Amino acid sequence: MSGPMRPVSDPESSLVGHFWRAAREGRLEFQHCAACGYLRWPPAVLCPECLAPGGAWIEVDGLGAIWSFAIYEQVYHEAFRGEVPYNVALVELEAGPRLITNIVGLPNEQLQIGLRVRPIFEALGPDLTLVRFRPSPGS
Ligand code: ZN
Repeated sequence: MSGPMRPVSDPESSLVGHFWRAAREGRLEFQHCAACGYLRWPPAVLCPECLAPGGAWIEVDGLGAIWSFAIYEQVYHEAFRGEVPYNVALVELEAGPRLITNIVGLPNEQLQIGLRVRPIFEALGPDLTLVRFRPSPGS
């Protein structure tokens, strides 16, 4: 890739790093609170629901639906100049967490709130795999 680097989360960060390592291997994982069962995103040292510490990472299938979205027409970062207009969506997983992501495989004009989607894992390089979503008819 040439030009400015896109800003990304640090895959080696101790807290969110687990999410990115799992994504590199094609899995969607979140922290699960053993005390109250809450599935946590973003990751945290304490459960935001019951304040219990810890939380083991568990895999979810990632099926969900578009909860909201916006189309970006403005270049807010040079790394995205070639991509406008692009969508940024909030996807609510059946498992609970809501992820900020992009929808692929569908023109922006056809995006709809409530559209069923499933994750795809898109490697941008050896260290970073983005989790994006595509329409999942019939799921
Ligand atoms: Zn909890």
